[in-house]
Amino acid sequence: MSSPTKQDQQSQSSVKRVAVVGAGVSGLAAAYKLKSHGFDVAVFEAEGRAGGKLRSVSRDGLIWDEGANTMTESETEVQTLLDNLGLREKQQFPISQTKRYIVRNGMPVLLPTNPIALITSNFLSAQSKLLIILEPFLWKKKGVSDDDTQESVGGFFQRHFGPEVVDYLIDPFVAGTSGGDPESLSMRHSFPDLWNMEKRFGSVISGAIKSKLSAKKEKSGQTKGSVEKGKHQRGSFSFHGGMQTLTDTLCNELGKDELKLNSTVLSLSYSHDGKSAFENWSVSSAAKDDKHSQSLSVDAVVMTAPLCNVKEMNITKRGTLFPLDFFPEVTYIPLSVIITTFKKEDVKRPLEGFGVLVPSKEQKNGLKTLGTLFSSMMFPDRAPSDLHLYTTFVGGSRNKELAKASTDELKKIVTSDIRHLLGAEGEPTSVNHYHWSKAFPLYGRNYDSVIEAIEKMEKNLPGFFYAGNHRGGLSVGKAIASGCKAAELVIAYLESPPDEKTRQE
Ligand SMILES: Cc1cc2nc3c(=O)[nH]c(=O)nc-3n(C[C@H](O)[C@H](O)[C@H](O)COP(=O)(O)OP(=O)(O)OC[C@H]3O[C@@H](n4cnc5c(N)ncnc54)[C@H](O)[C@@H]3O)c2cc1C
Repeated sequence: MSSPTKQDQQSQSSVKRVAVVGAGVSGLAAAYKLKSHGFDVAVFEAEGRAGGKLRSVSRDGLIWDEGANTMTESETEVQTLLDNLGLREKQQFPISQTKRYIVRNGMPVLLPTNPIALITSNFLSAQSKLLIILEPFLWKKKGVSDDDTQESVGGFFQRHFGPEVVDYLIDPFVAGTSGGDPESLSMRHSFPDLWNMEKRFGSVISGAIKSKLSAKKEKSGQTKGSVEKGKHQRGSFSFHGGMQTLTDTLCNELGKDELKLNSTVLSLSYSHDGKSAFENWSVSSAAKDDKHSQSLSVDAVVMTAPLCNVKEMNITKRGTLFPLDFFPEVTYIPLSVIITTFKKEDVKRPLEGFGVLVPSKEQKNGLKTLGTLFSSMMFPDRAPSDLHLYTTFVGGSRNKELAKASTDELKKIVTSDIRHLLGAEGEPTSVNHYHWSKAFPLYGRNYDSVIEAIEKMEKNLPGFFYAGNHRGGLSVGKAIASGCKAAELVIAYLESPPDEKTRQE
């Protein structure tokens, strides 16, 4: 191979380099987009593996997920990413995904799939159904003294639909998607679309109908190309091999030197000298328990580590400490995921479908789990044909202490609930357990102040962008969208004329 010419070296050194901190799905999506744009990337990951909350295991003829189990592609960033990565062939859609159950009076009840079916079913009492039908006229406005932005999810739905909807629809839904509870969660941050809908239309029902009608109108006026864009939207899905197939594929797109595993970022320093437009940041990292750190100069930083980790970093700006003491405390929700198998012949009332959620009110019937996914019903190739594979969640803000119980204790709790709900007999043939001490950040009622602090950090640190599930949504799709948006901001920042960059300081 010939040695690089002077010109090559010059053009190489003018390639911009971006550090991405965290190799979860948001960081990897950001890195992929930046690399595709022609930038050099370095992804720093504290753990010895990439994927973050996407964590699939394949063992003993079973495939299971210990983090996210499915995702959706409502965000255009997700659709584009799956197309670009060639992942369409590996997408795996669950069998009977519309069949989802909620426990009532100790037993799983099939959840009606749409509002009309909900009104005509016996899932809710006649009084609650009437409240839904009459919501456009009866919904209650917030009290005058109420602080608009701090309303809880429970308070909002109670005003619109009454207590039963909160207890038997909203409570199990938020526990199943965020580990949270209706009273602690902020409506504005957990359901921003509905929160805005109330602002626009008042009634949620009227707003939903009007939005649907205008979306239909828009669609009929769309060009073929834009209709094509929205064609992949068949609900929840995973990938053959589990959700980690997505992050593994993203990792394969990165070179060996670009993904730095076992590299905890310890400090970041911004040192713009006003003369050169580049090499403004220095990122120092080290393996856990290693005293020797390594430094890398970069032009910009995309931070996707959880805020609790960011607060541990030493950030300096032109040699002076940039303290992050203006950040409010973020609460994290702990969760245990327990994966069990039962012989098919031992499960007397197996249910076809996605899974079952347990409202907190049903704890009075002795149920302690948050919910169970019927993993091998959804994806039959994930277990031998004589076994049922279940994925059960325990803990959440409902029961933080239980989340950290031993595998033996959790096995008893999960077995008891599966016996009760699905008629399982005997013991599970296998049990696996993964404990997340910080599964989800809680989008609490003061979350406005967290978002303001993130914005303040970005404003004061030129070339620093924050992405991931602490901002804009907890789902895999939202984390991807957040990573892609941060990458776009980096591109705009690094390609803006140098004097504009200095003006931002
Ligand atoms: C049990 C569970 C079930 C879930 N189920 C679903 C689901 O079914 N559907 C869905 O859409 N979503 C689900 N989610 C949510 C979703 O998986 C996450 O919100 C999303 O994957 C978060 O991605 P992220 O990149 O923002 O963060 P993370 O995945 O948390 O990635 C952040 C990365 O930063 C690294 N890091 C931290 N500190 C440092 C440092 N100092 N230096 C370098 N690296 C650092 C971490 O090790 C980590 O790998 C679930 C989450 C959990 C925990």
